[in-house]
Amino acid sequence: MFTRRDLLKSTPAIAAAAAGTGLGSLSAAPSEAAEPVFKVPPLGYGFDALEPYIDTATMMIHHDRHHGAYVAAANGLVEKYPDLAVKPPAQILSDLAIVPEAVRQPVRNNLGGHWNHSFFWALMTPGGAKEPGGELKAAIDTAFGSTAKLTEMVNAAGLGRFGSGWAWLVVDKTGKLDIISTPNQDTPLEQSVRRVVLGVDVWEHAYYLKYQNKRADYLAAWWNTVNWDRAAANFAKAPV
Ligand code: MN
Repeated sequence: MFTRRDLLKSTPAIAAAAAGTGLGSLSAAPSEAAEPVFKVPPLGYGFDALEPYIDTATMMIHHDRHHGAYVAAANGLVEKYPDLAVKPPAQILSDLAIVPEAVRQPVRNNLGGHWNHSFFWALMTPGGAKEPGGELKAAIDTAFGSTAKLTEMVNAAGLGRFGSGWAWLVVDKTGKLDIISTPNQDTPLEQSVRRVVLGVDVWEHAYYLKYQNKRADYLAAWWNTVNWDRAAANFAKAPV
């Protein structure tokens, strides 16, 4: 049924006129105030803050449109799989077998895309430390020899990912630091990791405007954006 509220919502001129007469309050009825379950988190820095390593246009399109599309699709799945509104995303993504088969792949893709990107935005910062510190540095040195070697191995994982996906530094289920790659929007959570320390998006949408086909150049530049304090916190926190 086409209600007056629909009309007010879809017709700005009428809505504006109605607001002047007090009718505008109708458009703020409770049924329209329902918050979506998932939202794209704010970046915490400007779209241009990671220049020149990641360009402004890429950040805007990547954050608002690509991540926005995963969020919109995940919200669209809530009706079919109401647990999405109840269980934490990390819990669902760690145990996809609990998701009904009819919605499992869309949940994997879109809730996964939401989780991966939320992690990624927080892992970057302008003007962060250039090296890991403290316990994370010690663990990296023990596992890989040096931060330079870690960087090389993560880059190799990202370059070796055919098509779209991610490269990750994780604490695996045995407690060891490991470098893995996931395809598409699969999260490392599916692999029963204890912690996700660091991750880099190697989908073309993450770099194509500035770097075109040169994924290696993007990866080399990307390390300048890493928020090592955040990585250290990811390493230190309770298991995901
Ligand atoms: Mn992406």
